[in-house]
Amino acid sequence: MKHVLSAMALAIATLCASAPASADANHPKIGFSIDDLRVERWTRDRDFFVAAAEQLGAKVYVQSADASEQRQMAQIENLIARGVDVLVIVPYNATVLANAVSQAKKAKVKVLSYDRLILNADVDAYISFDNTAVGELQATALVQLKPKGNYYLLGGAPTDNNAKMLREGQLKVLQPLVDKGAIKIVGKQWVKDWSAAEAMAIVENALTANGNKIDAVVASNDGTAGGAIQALAAQKLAGKVPVSGQDADLAAVRRVIAGTQAMTVYKPLRQIAGEAAKLSVQLVRGEKPATQAQIDNGYKKVDTLLLKPILLTSANVDLLVKDGFYTQAQLAGK
Ligand code: BGC
Repeated sequence: MKHVLSAMALAIATLCASAPASADANHPKIGFSIDDLRVERWTRDRDFFVAAAEQLGAKVYVQSADASEQRQMAQIENLIARGVDVLVIVPYNATVLANAVSQAKKAKVKVLSYDRLILNADVDAYISFDNTAVGELQATALVQLKPKGNYYLLGGAPTDNNAKMLREGQLKVLQPLVDKGAIKIVGKQWVKDWSAAEAMAIVENALTANGNKIDAVVASNDGTAGGAIQALAAQKLAGKVPVSGQDADLAAVRRVIAGTQAMTVYKPLRQIAGEAAKLSVQLVRGEKPATQAQIDNGYKKVDTLLLKPILLTSANVDLLVKDGFYTQAQLAGK
């Protein structure tokens, strides 16, 4: 009997040793809560992320809040109730998710802030492109084209922490020129929900207020750049007044080729999505996330991985084809 028992104990011990620490760690469930899948870039993030996470053995549940903070909070609760192991969140409003995040933490769910930082909340890690560097790229490109003159600053959504970091980067470049008297900032606005229509209305008003004497528009992304360029086109100024952008949206890259948008910023989304998938799995497995910096979100210093954005002008659009981001036919508008 003693032998039988110890043989059984040995068998159980062997089974336990060869079994994974937990089934979840090998097949984690990831909830991906995205601000707004109606916006081009986020559909690409989703596709790259799901592909990368599945490669790592994870299952991903995706939700789009369609620019509603209530919907995003409800969806996060729902994902926690479904038993996800980690939440990857692109916040619509950076400042309202502290409760949702603390609910997740109570349920032992890890939280990764994706592209945009969630403020004042206990998030486990943050991944993004270096947004200050994006702002610097935008302003530098415009200053090279227009070293003097009237500048209009078209910021991103006031609910998005990135909008502030972009503005910081833009001002790093512009402020010294303002101080020297070369550049005058004739106006600045934040654009609610990064809306192209709102951006267009703002630039229309700015043109009227300044008798069309605007020499450059610092637009913080491609959607708002599109709105600004429409307003400029109505005054026959498209292509004459340089406008910046960000995201390498297809329409924007075509404008860069056509010369109506001065530049955009290419952020290889396959890279952020792939790194985020790895980070999510590491968090579930209790491994130290492979981050390289820490950013204070008002609650704690959050382990952060910042990726490098790339300047894109008509001189290097081919990079997008080389990288498989677009085909040559797509760029040509076919
Ligand atoms: C992202 C940009 C994007 C914008 C609007 C920002 O937080 O970093 O890539 O264009 O949101 O969706």
